[in-house]
Amino acid sequence: MKLICSRCDRTEPSCDAYKCKHCGYILEVTYGDLESFKPHLGADMWCFAGVLPFGDVSPVSLGEGMTPLVSVPKLRQDWHHDNVYVKNECLNPTGSFKDRALSVCVTAARECGKEGIVVASSGNGAASAAAYAARAGMKAAVLVPETTPDAKVTQARMCGADVTKISGDFTNCYRHAIEMAETGYYNVTTTFLNPYTMEGYKTIGFEIYLQLGQVPDWIVLPVGAGPILGGVYKAFSELEQMGIAKGIPRLVAVQAENCGPIASAFQAGEAVKTPDRTSPTIASALADPLCGYEEDGDYTIYCIRKSGGTALTLDESEILESAKLLAAREGIYAEPGGAVGVLAARKLIEEGVIKPTEKVVLVATGHGLKFDYSGYLK
Ligand SMILES: *Cc1c(COP(=O)(O)O)cnc(C)c1O
Ligand SMILES: [Zn+2]
Repeated sequence: MKLICSRCDRTEPSCDAYKCKHCGYILEVTYGDLESFKPHLGADMWCFAGVLPFGDVSPVSLGEGMTPLVSVPKLRQDWHHDNVYVKNECLNPTGSFKDRALSVCVTAARECGKEGIVVASSGNGAASAAAYAARAGMKAAVLVPETTPDAKVTQARMCGADVTKISGDFTNCYRHAIEMAETGYYNVTTTFLNPYTMEGYKTIGFEIYLQLGQVPDWIVLPVGAGPILGGVYKAFSELEQMGIAKGIPRLVAVQAENCGPIASAFQAGEAVKTPDRTSPTIASALADPLCGYEEDGDYTIYCIRKSGGTALTLDESEILESAKLLAAREGIYAEPGGAVGVLAARKLIEEGVIKPTEKVVLVATGHGLKFDYSGYLK
């Protein structure tokens, strides 16, 4: 395994590596001989250990990954589209796909001899970091925006994390985490800052490929900064290098209209810029204005474009409707940010962008129990 800057090609050592020390850009993990690895489904995502960082040691694991890929017959009926599936990431140990990243990152922290981790998070990363730190017997410092749903804060505190609520949006938490990392804490913030985040997420792509038995035509993903999308992109690119599957699915990034810098920049054909104004959104898990690390958004857009995909936003009532449809039509209970793929996919099907014969996978990213919907029921 090697860490290589995706802009200047310089390599960094595997401990304490965040962005490139020379040019500040995103580091990517590369592996020596991908051709000799043949992925198979197993008990959890560590069945892909041969192509994961620190895959040769016993990982800090709670059995993350290997979530079900289910067909959704009612939505198929409603949409006159026979090829829709949901990858239910709500069923990870702490209720979100973030567990895939944190399992890898906390393993890295332990292997690099760290006593503690720090995470800036909109909530799910906090809960996940706290759980994996508890598992590893490490201290966890968690920084969340004031508006983070209580259930996520409580989850992190129950797991023994030291939680600090910070005023303003995610950006302020992000800056504090970087400062704390300078005092020896390992920064496991799940943006593109820590190169192992995407490695955890790429296992979503491996599983979709193996569970479906083919490369899907489309994968629809809720996106904040976009490592989830970058990770899925990397999965299919590695499957190609392994000589196993050919082609990258078209990747769709879905964001909230109230804070959607990646979707806006994609649609305008411009570089990502921090929005002048953002409003709170019930999809709080996706609300990242990318202030100070706008290039992360450009990396995500690069992956979307290379895949032939697209990006779009939903307004608040559409986000709520997505979650309601997924729960009421299919019994899959996701938090608002975790369900946005539903209306995004419906729109693209209605517009004829997604064709009836094309296989579409929606990734549901976070559990409904993490959000209090009681005030939203009519
Ligand atoms: C973090 C998160 C996302 C966004 O993932 P990124 O990799 O930051 O783009 C989507 N859904 C949920 C529920 C999340 O917690
Ligand atoms: Zn560089």
